[in-house]
Amino acid sequence: MPQVLPKNFIDSLVGLPGFDEDTFINVHENASQLTSIRLNPLKPTAAINNLPVEKTIPWCDNGRYLSERPSFTLDPVFHGGAYYVQEASSMFIDHIVKEIYRNESLPERVLDLCAAPGGKSTLLAAALPKSFIISNEVIKTRVGVLAENISKWGSDHVMVTNNDPKDFKKLPGYFDLMVVDAPCSGSGLFRKDLNAINEWSEANVEMCSLRQQRILTDTIGSLRQNGILIYSTCSYSTQEDEDICDWIIEQFNLESVKIAIDPAWGIVETSSDKHAASGYRFYPDKVQGEGFFIACFKQTNTVDEYYGSYSKVAVAPKQIQSIVNPFLKNSADYLISDQKEIVIASLKKWEEDIATVSKTLNVRKSGVAVGTVKGKDLIPHHELALSHLLAAAIPYVDLQKDEALKYLRRQDLVFENEKKGWTICRHGDINLGWMKVLPNRVNNYYPTNWRILKA
Ligand code: SAM
Repeated sequence: MPQVLPKNFIDSLVGLPGFDEDTFINVHENASQLTSIRLNPLKPTAAINNLPVEKTIPWCDNGRYLSERPSFTLDPVFHGGAYYVQEASSMFIDHIVKEIYRNESLPERVLDLCAAPGGKSTLLAAALPKSFIISNEVIKTRVGVLAENISKWGSDHVMVTNNDPKDFKKLPGYFDLMVVDAPCSGSGLFRKDLNAINEWSEANVEMCSLRQQRILTDTIGSLRQNGILIYSTCSYSTQEDEDICDWIIEQFNLESVKIAIDPAWGIVETSSDKHAASGYRFYPDKVQGEGFFIACFKQTNTVDEYYGSYSKVAVAPKQIQSIVNPFLKNSADYLISDQKEIVIASLKKWEEDIATVSKTLNVRKSGVAVGTVKGKDLIPHHELALSHLLAAAIPYVDLQKDEALKYLRRQDLVFENEKKGWTICRHGDINLGWMKVLPNRVNNYYPTNWRILKA
């Protein structure tokens, strides 16, 4: 449907670097929609063979453009976390991480401050598999979908928290990398979201700019000396982009970081008015992606660092560990704890950080939920089925697409002669979840609240 852009919006962009009024209006009125996904490197990539993959996104090795938009809901491997549906421009963070850490040691502690629904967090989880990642979302009703997407992704090094930016003042100088994908006026998504066009106003841009400053004021102190801040929006407005970059430099004396880009990508490099901070603009008439802005900074000043004692994670009794260990790959790398009746596996390597964050922030998800111990048995958790912790020896059945969709709708399955007990349902080599094969029936353990409702 043609999208008529407000005149005051277009007028506000005239003169901005890389802004070309005619082609910009044309791409909003006439161009077809783009669809892109990012593959999960933890899972077999052949799972996407049925998707109409066109080509790789040039700034993200795991990113793929699709030639059309399939029904993701009816693709079983989507529910198994084989890929994440993400707009292509925002995958540029992958390139930034590669560029920044090409010659520097990788960041240990990473914060994705405005994380729901989880696009940047799953990207960071894949790009930085050895880091400790906090994926935070302030809005309570949005944390559920974030935790679900992190669970599907299957990583063991991401903790999900539900905190206001000001709560991070309790963790001064803590993070080596902080991503602030700030709430914004959303003009970059006008092609995908018609409502955003109606909601756009100069007053809203101003309001968003002030909120972005508040968020940064509350959290920049959590960045360690030499730590990196990545700031992004999906707005074209300078008040939310280059002006914020100038403000960051004036207010906090951070250093702008330039990122090498290939001119063929069509990304427009900008330089802020006052302090010549480098920024990267994505216009949909120039790149194959939606509107986006991103800039990077280094904290070069001396910073007070978090110092506090921590109590060790309380490990579960040996008897519980011996029940869960057969379900786990590399169980020696994990601390097994029993939290509110759910056994959790957390990486030993991050014990101190897990304890620190647990006592400082409101944790919604930590490590990988392994299951619930009942007597001598484990009722395995869905999160374990989707994670890379699952022991290779666990039996599985490969389901055809129709059966897989039945499973994901939580309908009854019929099997004969299968091995009895806990069994993984798979489709295209991707784990979808648990079922329990009993002598006379099969119990479907797909989580009720995740089931497909679409016919
Ligand atoms: N990073 C996400 C991704 O890639 O999937 C998208 C984040 S979206 C652009 C901005 C997020 O900021 C939203 O999830 C929104 O709920 C959150 N947010 C809204 N107001 C906020 C505030 N005052 N402080 C911090 N985050 C806020």
